[in-house]
Amino acid sequence: MYRNTRKALLALSIACLSASAGAGEGTVAFVGGNIIDGTGAAAIENGVIVSTGGRIVAVGPAASVNIPEGAERVDVSGKTLIPGLINAHGHVGGVKGLETDVYDVENLGRQLRLYARYGITTVNSLGDDEYEAFAIRNEQDPIFINYARLMVAGPVIAATTVEDALRHVNGIAEQSPNFLKIRVDDNLGRTSKMEPEIYKAIADQAEVRGIPLAVHTYTLADAKATLAAGADFIAHSVRDAEVDREFIDAMKGANVCYSPTLTREVSTFVYESEPTFFSDPFFLNEVDPVVISTLREPLRQQAMRDSANAQHYKNIALPRAITNLKLLSDAGVKIAMGTDSGPVTRFQGYFEHLEMSMMVEAGMTPMQVLQSATSVAAECLGLNYLGTLEEGKWADVVVLDRNPLEDINNTKSVSQVWIAGNLVPPKAAGE
Ligand SMILES: [Zn+2]
Repeated sequence: MYRNTRKALLALSIACLSASAGAGEGTVAFVGGNIIDGTGAAAIENGVIVSTGGRIVAVGPAASVNIPEGAERVDVSGKTLIPGLINAHGHVGGVKGLETDVYDVENLGRQLRLYARYGITTVNSLGDDEYEAFAIRNEQDPIFINYARLMVAGPVIAATTVEDALRHVNGIAEQSPNFLKIRVDDNLGRTSKMEPEIYKAIADQAEVRGIPLAVHTYTLADAKATLAAGADFIAHSVRDAEVDREFIDAMKGANVCYSPTLTREVSTFVYESEPTFFSDPFFLNEVDPVVISTLREPLRQQAMRDSANAQHYKNIALPRAITNLKLLSDAGVKIAMGTDSGPVTRFQGYFEHLEMSMMVEAGMTPMQVLQSATSVAAECLGLNYLGTLEEGKWADVVVLDRNPLEDINNTKSVSQVWIAGNLVPPKAAGE
């Protein structure tokens, strides 16, 4: 009885997440924009996209696309349209400002609307997902959704025996997660690392249950070993050594994607002084000023400067991650844009734009980075109907004032965000 009541309330509050959805089943025509479709093809200038029932039904140059009578026309002349951005590695629910332990539907909804306003229309939450996140994932309405689409992995599996590992995999599998997630990392010697026997058992059982396995690794040796054991997704950069031919061949041979999460490293040290983004309006629009003033406290900054771990991530791990990203991208390994945003001080929505900017600084082209955050990420997550602005795909569209192929930082010039043809509403009072 209690459980049914709780379920009914949950369904109601999830329905409310999209209460103000826009066009839904109607037809929307985006008219006159410069369209970067996410496939890597050259932009279509003065293009038109038509969506009906949330899906793209036509796209092309204005002269060749017929706009149905009665369509809601959105004038995007002079703007650039890109597919909704996909964060292949994020986290949701656990944080509000600098507070933790705030996990509930309301906070999940708040974060999914936040991601959406930043143009991040899909987030793959890789761990710490509770009942409420599964419920949102299950209930999100494909046609009326106007907040970020959510994928979930459940709790990070932290087994110490094979028996325990199997029990965990089977338990989570009952809820049909999009991924399973493990960590194989001793956190610079601070924790014990999962043994090969355990992750091999998890990988085998994940395969039996038909669920892809995402692994958090730090070292090249562990990335190779987990890959050999059956990992399906490498959730962070290799940060201890330069990637080699053996690793590249293994990644390509198994068609496994790699998520750099460069901004995860940034978050470990950047608050040792005033980050440049503390003066970026795109950041300030969404962040609680209390968070900024706390992160500015001199003692807090000093502690980060004095932290050997923070300095290791800054001076060793991040530079290594950056050179490895360029090597892997050049070698043709699939790079799925991901940030590990969600934990405290890893700012959801903003960090994805920072990540894309850093990926270009690492040596990828703006087009490669846009693909990494759209079509490639979609492919890596098995999302067949997302990631490009092509017929048949969901109409997840980010309208930008400026062209990101000219400067990747132009992804920050977000004018409008649409999910399944629904306009994402502005920030509500009190959010
Ligand atoms: Zn993570």
